[in-house]
Amino acid sequence: LGLKNEDLTKLADLGQGNGGSVVKVEHIPTGTIMAKKIVLIDAKSSVRKQILRELQIMHECHSQYIISCFGSFIAEPNICICMEFMDKGSFDSIYKNIGAIPIKVVCLVANSVLEGLTYLYDVHRIIHRDIKPSNILLNSEGDIKLCDFGVSGELINSIANTFVGTSVYMSPERIQGAEYSIKSDIWSLGISLIELATGRFPFTESLSDDDDTSDLDVLREEGSDSDSDWSPDSYKDKTPTHRDSTFLFNKRQQHRISKRASKRMSKNATFDADGMSSMSIIELMHQIVREPAPRLGASFDEEAEEFVDACLVKDPDERHSPKTLLEYRWMDDARDSDFDLKAWTTTF
Ligand code: ADP
Ligand code: MG
Repeated sequence: LGLKNEDLTKLADLGQGNGGSVVKVEHIPTGTIMAKKIVLIDAKSSVRKQILRELQIMHECHSQYIISCFGSFIAEPNICICMEFMDKGSFDSIYKNIGAIPIKVVCLVANSVLEGLTYLYDVHRIIHRDIKPSNILLNSEGDIKLCDFGVSGELINSIANTFVGTSVYMSPERIQGAEYSIKSDIWSLGISLIELATGRFPFTESLSDDDDTSDLDVLREEGSDSDSDWSPDSYKDKTPTHRDSTFLFNKRQQHRISKRASKRMSKNATFDADGMSSMSIIELMHQIVREPAPRLGASFDEEAEEFVDACLVKDPDERHSPKTLLEYRWMDDARDSDFDLKAWTTTF
């Protein structure tokens, strides 16, 4: 297609994440509507070219469960990835708008995600690495598709904001430092399904809705004054209090988190809501490792409960692969479903 930035006109903002932002654009020469992801990267030109080569895999993904890609290019200092626009947005924005998602829809989401993961792994040997409601998209045709899968290791390494790959959907084994496997994606799917079906993130006992992103927000403020005194040395004597989970943050991020917390604590002895949030993401990671996995709850069908329980087996060796999960009874329900997803998309 030979995509060029000059040919793209911005129509709307679609959202912001840790890695960049997404805008709705029109490709003027062809009239095609696209979603353009803009990622600020910190890499030299040889690495940028490597990233573009790696992103090529996205063009070779042809599946009804995977977002298609129109092309990628460098627009200094960013990399832009132009993908299929999904007019109903992500399931995270959908449930935040309309409340808990009907379980029949959640069932179809589960099935589509498993089919998408199976396709990515069987055909391209790709593990998604970032399954969460904001990466599961819907259009008014009733298609459910995955986006933002880990095609480019170099891209992940180069994203200027390094708070990437650390998320509250992360499996216990990932929190403890194990390599990513397809089983880690299954954990994240289980958490996402509970979130959609109940309308709330399952670990929120210690986190309010706004709090779960606040550390991420701090870490997004690149190059702010607040870290001007940062150096690897100044970090040295600041031993993290929660060693086994804070290692997930790089040293600079750990420094920022602990600095924010101590600033707040020195200002007023009591924790305010915001003060809580600074440590809560770390607390949350502890909870994921330590506590029993969350469950869907008894108000749902046995088939659904059984499936979600299988996704959230804490030991990755005991947790099933996407292929095996596709054989669960709840996924038969999905395949036999007569639920009209297309009609449902017109209700909001
Ligand atoms: P995150 O996934 O962490 O929210 P992103 O930068 O990946 O951050 O995406 C920001 C938002 O843009 C998403 O939450 C989603 O609602 C929206 N979005 C991303 N890709 C598309 C797309 N292809 N079509 C429509 N909306 C999209
Ligand atoms: Mg995303």
